[in-house]
Amino acid sequence: MALKIHKIMRIFTLTAFSLSVLISNGCKFSNNVAGKKTNVTSENHAKNVILFIGDGMGVSTVTAGRIFVGQEMGLSGEEHVLSFETFENVALIKTYNTNAQVPDSAGTATSIMSGYKTNIGTINVRPTEKFSGCGDIAADPTLAYRANAAGKSVGIISTARITHATPAAMYGYADSRGWEADKDLPEEAQSFGCQSLAAQLTAQNTPVNLALGGGSKEFSPQQLDSWASRDDSHLYIETVSDFEALDPQEGHDVLGLFTDSHMSFEADRDPNAEPSLADMTAYAIDNLSSRNDKGYILMIEAGRIDHAHHGGNAYRALKDFQAMDAAVKMALEKTGDDTLILVTADHSHVFTIGGYPVRGNPILGLVRSFDEETGKISKEYATALDDKPYTTLGYHNGPGDLRRAEDPALTDNLVQSKNYRQQIAIPRSSETHAGEDVPLYANGPGADEVKGVMEQNEIFNVMINAMGVE
Ligand SMILES: [Zn+2]
Repeated sequence: MALKIHKIMRIFTLTAFSLSVLISNGCKFSNNVAGKKTNVTSENHAKNVILFIGDGMGVSTVTAGRIFVGQEMGLSGEEHVLSFETFENVALIKTYNTNAQVPDSAGTATSIMSGYKTNIGTINVRPTEKFSGCGDIAADPTLAYRANAAGKSVGIISTARITHATPAAMYGYADSRGWEADKDLPEEAQSFGCQSLAAQLTAQNTPVNLALGGGSKEFSPQQLDSWASRDDSHLYIETVSDFEALDPQEGHDVLGLFTDSHMSFEADRDPNAEPSLADMTAYAIDNLSSRNDKGYILMIEAGRIDHAHHGGNAYRALKDFQAMDAAVKMALEKTGDDTLILVTADHSHVFTIGGYPVRGNPILGLVRSFDEETGKISKEYATALDDKPYTTLGYHNGPGDLRRAEDPALTDNLVQSKNYRQQIAIPRSSETHAGEDVPLYANGPGADEVKGVMEQNEIFNVMINAMGVE
C-alpha cells in the first residue's frame, strides 16, 4: 500500500505556513531541474570539501553582517572584508523548491546534498517519480553516502539540532522534516518502515563519522548507546570539558550533543557549556584529516541565523553570522590547496538595509544622514512621514516593531538593545524566508565551476565532481 504522504502531518517548528494549502491545490511541478555538467580535471580535484551553510544568510544578511563585524572591530564597517569575501568564485543560487516559490531548509538542503530539488518540508525524498515514502538510499545516495562509499570521512556540525532539516539532509531521508525523533513518526510512516532522523543518524549504516551540535532530546537512550557502544572509537559527549579533552589526532567517531534542543544563539552562549562554531570546526578538521589519506566532507551549518531572523531580531542573527565568519576563517587557516571550501545559504530572509544612513552609522541604530551644511553626521535623526526616526534594518514581515501613530518615538538605546525586534511592515507571528537568490562563494580546487546564476542542485555537482566520487 502506498504511503499517503499528503495525509501525513508535516511539523514545522518555526514557520507557520500551511503546506496543506500548497498540496491541496493539486498543482503539478516539474522536478526536472537540469544541472549543468561540470568537467573534472586533475587541477580541480579536491581531496576535501568543506561546505558552510549560513541558514537564512541572504545577501542582505551578508552585507549587514559585514558592517556589523567591521563595527565591532572599531571600523566604519562598510569597507570590512569578511573571511570568505576573498574567494574568487562567486555565483547567485536559485533556491525555489519544486512546489514552492519561497523555499524551506529541507527542500533546499536536499538540493545541495542530493542534487535534485524536492518539495518544501521534505528531506531527500523525491517529489514524484521513484517515490518511496521513506526515501531510497540505494537509488539516491546523498553526498555523505557517496563520500563514505569512496572511503572519505564525513563530518557534520550545526548550531541547530543535529536532526534539524539542514544537518539531517546529510544523512537522513524523511517525507517530513518533522520526523526528528521516534515519537514524531506518524503511524502510517511507521507501518511503512520509515525511521526517524535520530534513528538514521545513529544506525549501523550511517555515513557519518563525526556529528557536533544540539538536540539530545530527539534521541532515545538506546540510540545514543547504539552509537557509543559500537566500538572503542565511538564516543558520545555532552559537555565542553569532554569536548576539550578529546585528542583530534585519535580520530574518534564522536557524537557530541551539547544542548537538549538547538545550541544557544552566539549572543547568549556560555563558553563553559557550549563550544563555539569555530572551535567545533577546528576539532572536526583535525579529526577528519587524521583518519586516512582519502579526505573528508564536512558540512558546517550556522543554523541559528535563521532562527533569529524568524524572531525578527537582527542582533542575534548578526552575532551568529559573525560566529560563522570566524569558523570560515578557522577553516581557511587549517586547510591547504587540496580543500574546496564553499560558503552559501540555503535561502534568504525578508531582511533589509535602507534609509540613507551616513557612513559608519551603527548598523543596528536609527538612521542619521550626512549634514551638507556642517559636513558632519547630522545631529538630528532622519524622520519618516510621521516625523519619527526609523531603523536602518527592518523586516518585511514578522513579530517585529509595527509602529503606530500613537507610539512614542524610537530611541537608539531601544533599537540597539540585544532583544529589540526591528521595524516591520506586515505583522506575523514568525518572520518568513525570502525567495530571492542567495550567494555562493567558493575557494580551492573545483571552485571555478562556481559562476553565473546556478540552480541550487548544481552545488551538489560542484562537490561531487571536485571530489571525483560517483
Ligand atoms: Zn527558517
